[in-house]
Amino acid sequence: MKKSAVLFIVGFLLVLNFVAWQEVFSLYGSHYLKVVFLSVGQGDAEFIETPEGHQILIDGGPNATVLGKLSENMPVWDKTIDLVILTHPESDHMQGILYALQRYKADYILWSGIKKSAPEYYAWMKILAYQKNMGAKIIVAQSGAGLPAGRQEIKAGNVLIDTIYPLQSMEGKEMKSSSNDSCVVSKIIYGKNSFLFTGDIDTKAEKEIVGEIIWHGSGQDILANVLKVAHHGSKYSTSDLFLASVTPKFAVIEVGKNSYGHPTPETLQRLQNFGIKVLRTDINGDVTFISDGNNITLGK
Ligand SMILES: [Zn+2]
Repeated sequence: MKKSAVLFIVGFLLVLNFVAWQEVFSLYGSHYLKVVFLSVGQGDAEFIETPEGHQILIDGGPNATVLGKLSENMPVWDKTIDLVILTHPESDHMQGILYALQRYKADYILWSGIKKSAPEYYAWMKILAYQKNMGAKIIVAQSGAGLPAGRQEIKAGNVLIDTIYPLQSMEGKEMKSSSNDSCVVSKIIYGKNSFLFTGDIDTKAEKEIVGEIIWHGSGQDILANVLKVAHHGSKYSTSDLFLASVTPKFAVIEVGKNSYGHPTPETLQRLQNFGIKVLRTDINGDVTFISDGNNITLGK
Protein backbone atom coordinates (compact mmCIF):
# COMPACT_ATOMS: atom_id res chain seq x y z
CA MET A 1 0.00 0.00 0.00
CA LYS A 2 1.19 3.51 -0.76
CA LYS A 3 2.58 5.39 2.24
CA SER A 4 0.02 8.19 1.80
CA ALA A 5 -2.85 5.68 1.82
CA VAL A 6 -1.54 4.12 5.03
CA LEU A 7 -1.27 7.57 6.61
CA PHE A 8 -4.81 8.37 5.54
CA ILE A 9 -6.13 5.16 7.15
CA VAL A 10 -4.18 5.80 10.36
CA GLY A 11 -5.51 9.37 10.39
CA PHE A 12 -9.04 8.16 9.83
CA LEU A 13 -8.74 5.62 12.67
CA LEU A 14 -7.38 8.31 14.99
CA VAL A 15 -10.35 10.54 14.20
CA LEU A 16 -12.71 7.61 14.84
CA ASN A 17 -10.93 6.87 18.11
CA PHE A 18 -11.19 10.52 19.14
CA VAL A 19 -14.91 10.60 18.34
CA ALA A 20 -15.44 7.38 20.32
CA TRP A 21 -13.60 8.79 23.35
CA GLN A 22 -15.53 12.02 23.12
CA GLU A 23 -18.68 9.93 23.30
CA VAL A 24 -17.36 8.16 26.38
CA PHE A 25 -16.43 11.45 28.04
CA SER A 26 -19.76 13.05 27.25
CA LEU A 27 -21.47 9.90 28.56
CA TYR A 28 -19.59 9.81 31.82
CA GLY A 29 -18.35 13.38 31.93
CA SER A 30 -21.49 15.47 31.97
CA HIS A 31 -24.49 13.61 33.37
CA TYR A 32 -23.21 10.81 35.53
CA LEU A 33 -21.95 10.35 39.05
CA LYS A 34 -19.45 7.51 39.34
CA VAL A 35 -18.79 5.81 42.67
CA VAL A 36 -16.11 3.13 42.86
CA PHE A 37 -15.51 0.97 45.90
CA LEU A 38 -11.87 0.15 45.37
CA SER A 39 -10.55 -3.33 45.96
CA VAL A 40 -7.52 -2.56 48.13
CA GLY A 41 -7.42 -5.59 50.45
CA GLN A 42 -8.53 -5.44 54.09
CA GLY A 43 -9.45 -1.77 54.31
CA ASP A 44 -11.61 0.95 52.82
CA ALA A 45 -11.10 3.24 49.85
CA GLU A 46 -13.78 4.84 47.69
CA PHE A 47 -13.33 7.03 44.64
CA ILE A 48 -16.09 9.32 43.43
CA GLU A 49 -16.30 11.43 40.31
CA THR A 50 -19.14 13.92 39.99
CA PRO A 51 -20.86 14.79 36.71
CA GLU A 52 -18.89 18.07 36.68
CA GLY A 53 -15.63 16.16 37.05
CA HIS A 54 -14.94 16.80 40.74
CA GLN A 55 -13.05 13.98 42.40
CA ILE A 56 -13.54 12.76 45.92
CA LEU A 57 -11.48 10.15 47.75
CA ILE A 58 -12.90 8.63 50.93
CA ASP A 59 -10.19 6.71 52.81
CA GLY A 60 -7.24 5.13 51.05
CA GLY A 61 -6.97 1.54 52.21
CA PRO A 62 -4.09 -0.15 54.04
CA ASN A 63 -1.21 0.43 51.59
CA ALA A 64 -0.10 2.03 48.31
CA THR A 65 -2.54 -0.01 46.16
CA VAL A 66 -4.78 3.06 45.96
CA LEU A 67 -2.19 4.89 43.83
CA GLY A 68 -2.68 2.42 40.96
CA LYS A 69 -6.45 2.70 41.38
CA LEU A 70 -6.31 6.50 41.24
CA SER A 71 -4.27 6.40 38.02
CA GLU A 72 -6.89 4.08 36.51
CA ASN A 73 -9.68 6.49 37.44
CA MET A 74 -8.05 9.89 36.90
CA PRO A 75 -6.39 11.46 33.86
CA VAL A 76 -2.58 11.38 33.98
CA TRP A 77 -2.32 15.18 34.04
CA ASP A 78 -4.74 15.62 36.93
CA LYS A 79 -2.86 15.79 40.22
CA THR A 80 -5.59 17.41 42.31
CA ILE A 81 -8.30 15.67 44.29
CA ASP A 82 -11.09 18.11 45.12
CA LEU A 83 -12.11 16.54 48.41
CA VAL A 84 -10.40 13.93 50.58
CA ILE A 85 -12.37 12.47 53.46
CA LEU A 86 -10.61 10.48 56.16
CA THR A 87 -13.25 8.57 58.14
CA HIS A 88 -10.81 7.86 61.00
CA PRO A 89 -7.05 7.67 61.42
CA GLU A 90 -6.62 3.88 61.50
CA SER A 91 -4.10 2.12 59.23
CA ASP A 92 -6.57 0.14 57.11
CA HIS A 93 -8.24 3.41 56.05
CA MET A 94 -5.40 5.89 56.26
CA GLN A 95 -2.13 4.43 54.95
CA GLY A 96 -3.25 4.76 51.33
CA ILE A 97 -4.30 8.38 51.92
CA LEU A 98 -0.80 9.11 53.24
CA TYR A 99 0.58 7.84 49.91
CA ALA A 100 -2.06 9.64 47.84
CA LEU A 101 -1.50 12.99 49.57
CA GLN A 102 2.19 12.85 48.80
CA ARG A 103 1.37 12.60 45.11
CA TYR A 104 -1.88 14.59 44.81
CA LYS A 105 -2.88 17.98 46.10
CA ALA A 106 -6.20 18.14 47.94
CA ASP A 107 -8.44 21.21 47.75
CA TYR A 108 -10.47 20.21 50.81
CA ILE A 109 -9.81 17.67 53.54
CA LEU A 110 -12.67 16.58 55.79
CA TRP A 111 -11.90 14.62 58.95
CA SER A 112 -12.82 14.32 62.62
CA GLY A 113 -9.99 16.35 64.16
CA ILE A 114 -9.43 13.83 66.97
CA LYS A 115 -6.14 13.23 68.81
CA LYS A 116 -4.34 9.91 69.08
CA SER A 117 -0.93 8.66 70.09
CA ALA A 118 0.19 6.38 67.30
CA PRO A 119 2.97 6.63 64.70
CA GLU A 120 0.50 6.59 61.80
CA TYR A 121 -1.45 9.41 63.46
CA TYR A 122 1.69 11.58 63.59
CA ALA A 123 2.29 10.80 59.91
CA TRP A 124 -1.26 12.00 59.21
CA MET A 125 -0.70 15.26 61.12
CA LYS A 126 2.46 15.84 59.11
CA ILE A 127 0.74 15.29 55.77
CA LEU A 128 -2.17 17.48 56.89
CA ALA A 129 0.26 20.33 57.64
CA TYR A 130 1.94 19.77 54.24
CA GLN A 131 -1.40 19.92 52.40
CA LYS A 132 -2.51 22.96 54.38
CA ASN A 133 0.69 24.67 53.39
CA MET A 134 -0.12 23.89 49.75
CA GLY A 135 -3.51 25.56 50.14
CA ALA A 136 -5.84 22.76 51.25
CA LYS A 137 -8.79 23.80 53.41
CA ILE A 138 -9.23 21.57 56.43
CA ILE A 139 -12.81 20.95 57.58
CA VAL A 140 -13.71 19.31 60.89
CA ALA A 141 -16.68 17.02 60.41
CA GLN A 142 -19.87 17.52 62.36
CA SER A 143 -23.40 16.50 61.46
CA GLY A 144 -26.26 18.91 61.06
CA ALA A 145 -27.84 17.51 64.24
CA GLY A 146 -25.11 19.24 66.24
CA LEU A 147 -25.18 22.51 64.34
CA PRO A 148 -27.55 25.40 64.95
CA ALA A 149 -27.65 26.07 61.21
CA GLY A 150 -29.00 22.58 60.53
CA ARG A 151 -26.40 20.86 58.40
CA GLN A 152 -22.81 20.63 57.28
CA GLU A 153 -23.05 20.23 53.60
CA ILE A 154 -20.37 20.46 50.97
CA LYS A 155 -21.44 21.08 47.40
CA ALA A 156 -19.59 19.75 44.38
CA GLY A 157 -21.70 21.06 41.50
CA ASN A 158 -25.02 19.24 41.73
CA VAL A 159 -23.65 16.67 44.15
CA LEU A 160 -24.05 17.19 47.89
CA ILE A 161 -21.80 15.72 50.55
CA ASP A 162 -23.74 15.68 53.79
CA THR A 163 -22.00 14.96 57.10
CA ILE A 164 -24.11 12.54 59.16
CA TYR A 165 -21.68 11.72 62.00
CA PRO A 166 -20.11 12.60 64.42
CA LEU A 167 -23.11 14.44 65.84
CA GLN A 168 -20.91 16.89 67.76
CA SER A 169 -17.45 18.09 66.80
CA MET A 170 -14.74 15.71 68.06
CA GLU A 171 -11.98 18.26 67.48
CA GLY A 172 -9.11 17.82 69.93
CA LYS A 173 -10.70 14.82 71.68
CA GLU A 174 -8.15 12.20 72.64
CA MET A 175 -8.89 8.62 71.55
CA LYS A 176 -7.31 6.14 73.93
CA SER A 177 -7.79 3.02 71.83
CA SER A 178 -9.78 2.58 68.64
CA SER A 179 -11.15 5.64 66.90
CA ASN A 180 -14.01 3.71 65.26
CA ASP A 181 -16.61 5.61 67.27
CA SER A 182 -15.38 8.92 65.92
CA CYS A 183 -15.78 7.93 62.27
CA VAL A 184 -16.95 10.48 59.78
CA VAL A 185 -20.13 9.20 58.16
CA SER A 186 -21.04 10.95 54.90
CA LYS A 187 -23.98 10.75 52.60
CA ILE A 188 -23.42 11.63 48.97
CA ILE A 189 -26.54 12.77 47.18
CA TYR A 190 -27.10 13.26 43.47
CA GLY A 191 -30.70 13.97 42.50
CA LYS A 192 -32.81 11.09 43.78
CA ASN A 193 -29.80 8.84 44.35
CA SER A 194 -27.66 8.57 47.43
CA PHE A 195 -24.76 6.64 48.89
CA LEU A 196 -23.99 6.25 52.59
CA PHE A 197 -20.36 5.85 53.70
CA THR A 198 -20.08 4.55 57.24
CA GLY A 199 -16.37 3.92 57.90
CA ASP A 200 -16.04 1.55 60.84
CA ILE A 201 -18.92 2.70 63.06
CA ASP A 202 -20.52 0.16 65.39
CA THR A 203 -24.09 -0.36 66.56
CA LYS A 204 -23.74 2.27 69.30
CA ALA A 205 -22.98 4.98 66.72
CA GLU A 206 -25.69 3.58 64.43
CA LYS A 207 -28.20 3.94 67.24
CA GLU A 208 -27.11 7.52 67.93
CA ILE A 209 -27.41 8.35 64.23
CA VAL A 210 -30.89 6.88 63.94
CA GLY A 211 -31.98 8.58 67.18
CA GLU A 212 -30.58 12.03 66.46
CA ILE A 213 -30.90 12.32 62.71
CA ILE A 214 -34.27 10.70 62.30
CA TRP A 215 -36.14 11.48 65.50
CA HIS A 216 -34.71 14.73 66.83
CA GLY A 217 -33.08 15.80 63.74
CA SER A 218 -31.84 18.35 61.52
CA GLY A 219 -33.95 17.65 58.47
CA GLN A 220 -31.30 15.21 57.29
CA ASP A 221 -32.04 11.57 56.67
CA ILE A 222 -29.96 8.46 56.16
CA LEU A 223 -31.97 6.80 53.41
CA ALA A 224 -29.59 5.59 50.72
CA ASN A 225 -29.66 3.41 47.62
CA VAL A 226 -26.18 2.12 48.31
CA LEU A 227 -24.72 1.41 51.76
CA LYS A 228 -21.01 0.97 52.43
CA VAL A 229 -21.27 -1.73 55.08
CA ALA A 230 -19.56 -0.55 58.25
CA HIS A 231 -16.38 -2.09 59.61
CA HIS A 232 -15.79 -4.63 56.83
CA GLY A 233 -18.88 -6.64 57.79
CA SER A 234 -18.17 -6.93 61.53
CA LYS A 235 -21.06 -8.42 63.50
CA TYR A 236 -20.97 -5.40 65.84
CA SER A 237 -22.17 -3.11 63.05
CA THR A 238 -25.02 -3.08 60.51
CA SER A 239 -27.86 -3.62 62.97
CA ASP A 240 -31.45 -4.34 61.92
CA LEU A 241 -32.37 -0.87 63.19
CA PHE A 242 -29.76 0.74 60.95
CA LEU A 243 -30.71 -1.30 57.87
CA ALA A 244 -34.39 -0.53 58.41
CA SER A 245 -33.51 3.18 58.51
CA VAL A 246 -31.20 3.22 55.48
CA THR A 247 -33.20 0.72 53.34
CA PRO A 248 -30.48 0.30 50.73
CA LYS A 249 -30.89 -1.70 47.54
CA PHE A 250 -27.18 -2.45 47.36
CA ALA A 251 -24.61 -2.99 50.10
CA VAL A 252 -20.88 -3.09 49.51
CA ILE A 253 -18.49 -4.83 51.89
CA GLU A 254 -14.89 -3.69 51.55
CA VAL A 255 -12.85 -6.58 52.79
CA GLY A 256 -9.70 -8.59 52.11
CA LYS A 257 -7.81 -11.44 53.73
CA ASN A 258 -8.17 -10.98 57.49
CA SER A 259 -8.07 -12.74 60.83
CA TYR A 260 -11.18 -11.05 62.26
CA GLY A 261 -13.68 -13.22 60.41
CA HIS A 262 -14.89 -10.28 58.30
CA PRO A 263 -17.45 -10.32 56.88
CA THR A 264 -19.26 -12.21 59.61
CA PRO A 265 -22.10 -14.66 58.91
CA GLU A 266 -24.35 -12.61 61.25
CA THR A 267 -24.01 -9.44 59.18
CA LEU A 268 -24.36 -11.32 55.88
CA GLN A 269 -27.54 -12.90 57.25
CA ARG A 270 -29.01 -9.54 58.31
CA LEU A 271 -28.31 -8.08 54.86
CA GLN A 272 -29.94 -11.11 53.26
CA ASN A 273 -32.99 -10.82 55.54
CA PHE A 274 -33.54 -7.31 54.21
CA GLY A 275 -33.24 -8.53 50.62
CA ILE A 276 -30.23 -6.30 49.94
CA LYS A 277 -27.90 -7.17 47.07
CA VAL A 278 -24.43 -7.59 48.55
CA LEU A 279 -21.19 -6.94 46.70
CA ARG A 280 -17.73 -7.59 48.13
CA THR A 281 -14.42 -6.18 47.02
CA ASP A 282 -12.64 -9.47 47.84
CA ILE A 283 -14.94 -11.34 45.44
CA ASN A 284 -16.12 -8.71 42.92
CA GLY A 285 -12.94 -6.59 42.80
CA ASP A 286 -13.62 -2.86 42.28
CA VAL A 287 -17.37 -2.25 42.57
CA THR A 288 -18.59 0.62 40.39
CA PHE A 289 -21.94 2.37 40.40
CA ILE A 290 -23.12 4.92 37.85
CA SER A 291 -25.96 7.30 38.72
CA ASP A 292 -27.82 9.69 36.44
CA GLY A 293 -29.60 11.24 39.41
CA ASN A 294 -32.65 9.01 38.95
CA ASN A 295 -31.33 5.50 38.54
CA ILE A 296 -28.27 3.66 39.73
CA THR A 297 -26.66 1.01 37.63
CA LEU A 298 -24.00 -1.40 38.69
CA GLY A 299 -20.88 -1.34 36.55
CA LYS A 300 -18.56 -4.26 35.85
ZN1 LIG B 1 -11.46 -0.57 59.11
